[in-house]
Amino acid sequence: MTSHLRQKQVVSAYIHIPFCEHICYYCDFNKVFIEGQPVDEYVNLLVREMSLTMANYPDYEINTLYIGGGTPTSLTAKQLDRLLEGVHKYLPINRLVEFSVEANPGDIDKEKMAVLKYHGVNRLSMGVQSFHDEILKKIGRVHTKKDIFKSVDQARKSGFENISIDLIFRLPKQTIPLFKESLQQALSLDLPHYAVYSLILENKTVFYQLMRKGKLHLPSDDEDADMYELAMEMLDSAGRKQYEISNFALSGYESIHNKTYWQNGHYFGFGAGAHGYIEAMRYKNNGPIQHYLDPLKINQLPIFSKENLSKKQIMEEELFLGLRQIEGISQELFLKKYAIPVKEVYGQTIYDLIDKGLLEEKDGYIKLTKRGIFLGDTVFQSFLG
Ligand code: SF4
Repeated sequence: MTSHLRQKQVVSAYIHIPFCEHICYYCDFNKVFIEGQPVDEYVNLLVREMSLTMANYPDYEINTLYIGGGTPTSLTAKQLDRLLEGVHKYLPINRLVEFSVEANPGDIDKEKMAVLKYHGVNRLSMGVQSFHDEILKKIGRVHTKKDIFKSVDQARKSGFENISIDLIFRLPKQTIPLFKESLQQALSLDLPHYAVYSLILENKTVFYQLMRKGKLHLPSDDEDADMYELAMEMLDSAGRKQYEISNFALSGYESIHNKTYWQNGHYFGFGAGAHGYIEAMRYKNNGPIQHYLDPLKINQLPIFSKENLSKKQIMEEELFLGLRQIEGISQELFLKKYAIPVKEVYGQTIYDLIDKGLLEEKDGYIKLTKRGIFLGDTVFQSFLG
């Protein structure tokens, strides 16, 4: 009898909404300006992608869902409702523990919040970036400080308490005292979760062009490190424990979905340009909207590329991603997952990084030192073959 009962695989899922109502000067995410885009058609075919995909994976269950972008809240309440109805209809989410949606301050209205709440969304991640109107303008955001407070208030009134906000440092015109003020304002909201990133200059962004013309003036590397240190100190003193390079939370509010990524777990990716990782296979969907929609119109999946990872590649990613977590990599878990001790595979690299003061071994874990946290990228790169 029991031989018919197969154990379900528990994975996560990411859903991408590639539309934005404005384009920020630093952003290189996969997104387009929403005006004139076939948004209704996108929502319908996104739901179709979920149904086609899940028909191929009947033995899977999804325990965390994340709708990101772009700007998911650029959809109308009606479009959000249709999307979320599709999610419930086609995704196996009976045992869902975390359902996050990204929201932009200013886009959060009562009606949209009610739709999200009705469909079981239990976590909001808000792209705040800064509490200074002048800086927000400089980076191409259209919300203001007032919008941030209003949106958090609206989210709470709508019944959301698990709210995270993103902040960025090393922005043009940003000084250490100004960043400190942003952190203070952020903490005054008393949220359970904060994510703090240093600005990265990406190709094909307005900032990159300005930088090439010598017209972008950013805080120095030293100021960048000071800002990061300040964020760590202030968030830690406020009881928001750092659990990943950029993420801080009250105990019990760490993002379960993001931990799936850092722990090299599996996930489906739905939407234009989305990535997925299922059964040692990484895949990527077509990015341009029409290239994403066309195959779906004839009931085909819009997959652009697939790659089957070797055991070596999977182990590399385990370290590359896992070391982002402040607790580090469990040697016991590594052995259980890959049937080989981590030091037998990466001993040389690990000891080199310990010698350089970037890694340390503690209670069976291999983790970044304080210095390693500042030089994370150097550490992670060392594990890539
Ligand atoms: S940062 Fe967010 S809101 Fe701004 S363009 Fe990028 S995806 Fe859109």
